[in-house]
Amino acid sequence: MSTQSIRPVKVKRKYTRSSPGSVLYQSGDTIVLCTASIEDGVPPWLAGSGKGWVTAEYNMLPHSTNRRKRRDRDGKVDGRTTEIQRLIGRSLRAVVDLERLGERMVTVDCDVLQADGGTRTASITGGFLALADALYPEFRKTPPAEHPLRDSIAAISVGIVNGKPTLDLDYEKDFAAAVDMNVVMTGKGQFVEIQGTGEEATFDDDELAALIKLAKAGIKQLTKIQQESLGKQWPLA
Ligand code: UDP
Repeated sequence: MSTQSIRPVKVKRKYTRSSPGSVLYQSGDTIVLCTASIEDGVPPWLAGSGKGWVTAEYNMLPHSTNRRKRRDRDGKVDGRTTEIQRLIGRSLRAVVDLERLGERMVTVDCDVLQADGGTRTASITGGFLALADALYPEFRKTPPAEHPLRDSIAAISVGIVNGKPTLDLDYEKDFAAAVDMNVVMTGKGQFVEIQGTGEEATFDDDELAALIKLAKAGIKQLTKIQQESLGKQWPLA
């Protein structure tokens, strides 16, 4: 198994019909359905500001994991889910000009159908495509310089597994990783978020640099996949 390449990615846009953005995003054995819907109006704290909002929700289906995971009940959301959905929301908002979006609210729902590591990073990369599709009907004639999407966004995990900097961790590698990190970057190569933890071991400057280099190479490939997938609808040409 390669330590330097991303897992095979498959993208199916317009996967379901009920929301304007609906993308089935598969990275290896991790599969996430990302849907995006757009509505007029914003949360009360933004009303009258002229600005829009983008938010995200994340969920794992009970049998997305080998061992059945109980559904959240009575609106209770566990800490991991809260952390992940905030990360997805922040990442997507980083590339959206909320003023150009106007008083509209976009919700990106990321539902994990199958989890094999990297579900949050897949949600960000696939969620961007769903977001672009949801914005398309309204902004199809808007030139890139005025479009609410200023850049693309994608994410990948990296880690140190068996002493080696490794790209795109599946569950097995994630489990074996001494250090693991999620990196979120724009298509133009700007960092948005880096979450890295030395769980089993500390890491030094050189290892950190190696992980960042790997992540950058991975994001570059993901950006290309996103661009190819959106084709003529790529809003940043
Ligand atoms: N996982 C699981 N049950 C859980 C949480 C995670 O089986 O309740 C597995 C799943 O394969 C997931 C992996 O552990 O993809 C890594 O989880 P992590 O919390 O690091 O998030 P992810 O890498 O999916 O963003």
